[in-house]
Amino acid sequence: MTEENPSPLFGRIALIGIGLIGSSLSHAIRRRGLADEIAVSTRSQETLDRARELGLGDCYSTNVAEAVDGADLVILSVPLGVMGTVAEAISDHLKPGAIVTDAGSSKTSVIADISPFIPDGVHFVPGHPIAGTEHSGPDAGFAELFDHRWCVLTPLPHTDRGAVEKLTEFWKACGSNIETMDPEHHDKVLAITSHLPQLIAYCIVDTATDLETDLQSEVIKFSASGFQDFTRLAASDPVMWRDVCLKNRDAVLDVLSQFTEDLTAIKRSIRRGEGEELQKIFTRTRAIRRDVIEANRD
Ligand code: NAP
Repeated sequence: MTEENPSPLFGRIALIGIGLIGSSLSHAIRRRGLADEIAVSTRSQETLDRARELGLGDCYSTNVAEAVDGADLVILSVPLGVMGTVAEAISDHLKPGAIVTDAGSSKTSVIADISPFIPDGVHFVPGHPIAGTEHSGPDAGFAELFDHRWCVLTPLPHTDRGAVEKLTEFWKACGSNIETMDPEHHDKVLAITSHLPQLIAYCIVDTATDLETDLQSEVIKFSASGFQDFTRLAASDPVMWRDVCLKNRDAVLDVLSQFTEDLTAIKRSIRRGEGEELQKIFTRTRAIRRDVIEANRD
C-alpha cells in the first residue's frame, strides 16, 4: 500500500516468468502498491534465487501451479513458444474469477495457445506492453519501463468487460497508455513497427560479421551511430525473437515480402542513376519521421 494508491487493485498477483517484463512489472506493482502480495514463478532455480535476492516477490516457486494458487491476477511473461505449456500447467489451479493475462509480443498465437486452458469462470484478457530494452533476465527490470508507453489489450468478443476494465486500470497504474485492438490487426501493426526493424538489425549486423576480418574490425572501430543503433537492437534476446518470427509468421512474412520489393526498387533506382526517384522516397520518409516525433510528444 502507498499514499498514492491506498487500496491495492488486487490481493495476490502471480508473475509467471521474471525476466525483463516480469521483473519490471514487480517494480511497477510495488511502486504504486497494486497488490497485497506478489508470487513469483520461473523455470530455473537459478533465476528464482536471483529474483529472491532482488526482492521481486513475497513468495517464490518453480512450481507454476503453486504460484497461481489464490491469485486474483496471473501475468504470463514467458517466451511465446511456451505460453501454451505454462497455461496447461496452471489451468486446474486458477481461482474462479481470476484474470489471466500475458505480455506476449504476438497476439493471435497466444490466444490460440492459451484459450483452450482457461476454465469457465476465469477471465483471459490478452495484452502486450509495447515497451522493452535489449536486456533480459530479472536484473534487467525497472519500474519506469512502462511509463508513457502503449499497452495493447486484445480482448475477444466474449471477454468479460469488467475484467478488461480492471486490467486497463492495472496497466494505467503501471504508467501505460492503453489501446484496445483486434488481435490480427495488432500482429500486422507490430510486424511492421517492431518485428521488421528487429529483423533488419539482425541481418545488417550479421552481414557485418561475414566481412573479411580487417574490414570487420574497422566496421567496429568506426561504427557510426546508425550501425551502433542496429547493434543495440541485434543484442536482443535470441529466444524471444526466434519465437516472435515463428509465432507471428504470416504477418512477418507479408511485411518481409513488401520490404524486399521496396528494397529491390531502391536498388534499381541506384543502378539506373534515378536521383529524382531516390530523393522522392527519402523526402517521403523524412515526413514520416516528423509525424513519429509529433505522435510521441502527445
Ligand atoms: P526474458 O527476460 O528472457 O525472461 C523470460 C522469463 O521466462 C524468464 O523468467 C524465464 O525463466 C522464463 N521462462 C523461459 N522459458 C520458460 C518455460 N519453458 N517455462 C516457464 N518459464 C520460462 O523475457 P522478457 O523479455 O521478459 O519477455 C517475456 C515475454 O514478454 C515474451 O513473451 C515477449 O514476447 C514479451 N515482451 C518482451 C519485450 C522485450 O522487449 N523484451 C517487450 C514486450 C513484450 P528462466 O530464466 O528461469 O529460464
